[in-house]
Amino acid sequence: MPNNADVIIVGGGVIGTACAYFLSRRGAQVLVLERNHLGAGASGAPAAIINIGGTGGPMAPLRPLSIESYNLILEVEKDFEHPLEVIRGGALYVAMDAQGVEEIRPDYAEACEMGFDCSWLDGADIRRMEPLLGPQVAAGFYNPACYHVNPFRLYTGYMNTAVRRGAQIAYGVKVTDVKVQNDRIVQVRADQGEYQADYVIIAGGAFTPRILSSLDLEIPIVPARGQVIITEPCPAMTEHLLFLVDHLYIKQTASGNFYLGSHTELVGFENRITLEKLTTYARVFAKAVPLVARLRALRVFAGFRPICADNLPIIGPIPGCSRLIVASGHGRTGIRYSASTGKAVSELILDGKTEHPLEAFRVDRFINPVQK
Ligand SMILES: Cc1cc2nc3c(=O)[nH]c(=O)nc-3n(C[C@H](O)[C@H](O)[C@H](O)COP(=O)(O)OP(=O)(O)OC[C@H]3O[C@@H](n4cnc5c(N)ncnc54)[C@H](O)[C@@H]3O)c2cc1C
Repeated sequence: MPNNADVIIVGGGVIGTACAYFLSRRGAQVLVLERNHLGAGASGAPAAIINIGGTGGPMAPLRPLSIESYNLILEVEKDFEHPLEVIRGGALYVAMDAQGVEEIRPDYAEACEMGFDCSWLDGADIRRMEPLLGPQVAAGFYNPACYHVNPFRLYTGYMNTAVRRGAQIAYGVKVTDVKVQNDRIVQVRADQGEYQADYVIIAGGAFTPRILSSLDLEIPIVPARGQVIITEPCPAMTEHLLFLVDHLYIKQTASGNFYLGSHTELVGFENRITLEKLTTYARVFAKAVPLVARLRALRVFAGFRPICADNLPIIGPIPGCSRLIVASGHGRTGIRYSASTGKAVSELILDGKTEHPLEAFRVDRFINPVQK
């Protein structure tokens, strides 16, 4: 394994592997350093819902990346050895009562405003459209602009295709520090040795602040736990992604299991499963989709979404070193934004400019203006 490359990427999650894919597609020599295994972080836990929406208000800067990534993930699949198990049934946003109706109205308005062929459905209509829904469902809407994939196929697809083009990956390498001087990378230090590169990308998910802790820099990314239940497999019953109240959702995977997730819990790096959450989930899921209450739970697990203080990701160089780039903090939507992030980072490095503006995602937005 070499100890130098044009670009070193720290972290083999969906963001690091997407960067490796887009850089190697354009001929850059890439080395990924991963302390554990691919998908060892948040990328091993998601529902992998890819939808357009939820980009109103302060999230508006994400909209161009949202549309781009939605299309780009389907495009890169053609380059991959294994299909992504895309399920394109669209999404049903389900309200169980009058309060729920008010909660989903802004999502409906945004989806309509973006020109998607959405329909508002009363309780009877939505149950006709999705017979798995129970009698207590009050109303909802359908948005066709939503699909979901197998997340394991996505990050392994990015990485394996990058490797086919010459990228390399070293497992079991924990990066401890990156030394920079005069806009240059001096050294990447790891527990397994030292590495050299022209550019370094930090894609360490919730661990990104720790990797950069020796720099005098605020990276306000924290872990946000999500607990997940996976049921036994059943025959294919629905292609709809079902969004319920309070950020709970259900999808049926290509292999027939139901994936039930997931609240956002700010409890640090605490990955225990709590009965309190599972009980809450079970109540909501059983009310909305009664079938689920009768299924066996096969697995429960938790993952740490890397959430940034203002809910926008960080994509860009650190102040004072244009060659040390952070790509992290995608929170609940890192799968969704993986392709557009990887592409943008490759443009930043290879062209010095990007197709879509990255202003809103700069690292230095968190620096006090007096310090700047
Ligand atoms: C329950 C749940 C459901 C989700 N559902 C969705 C969804 O439906 N749609 C969606 O778009 N997103 C979803 N997400 C969010 C998505 O999974 C994350 O935003 C995304 O996986 C973050 O990817 P990442 O590569 O930035 O981080 P990670 O996947 O955490 O990868 C970081 C990698 O860096 C490695 N690393 C850390 N420190 C070091 C070090 N010092 N040296 C070397 N390597 C290091 C880690 O081992 C890890 O592999 C969900 C997340 C959870 C937890």
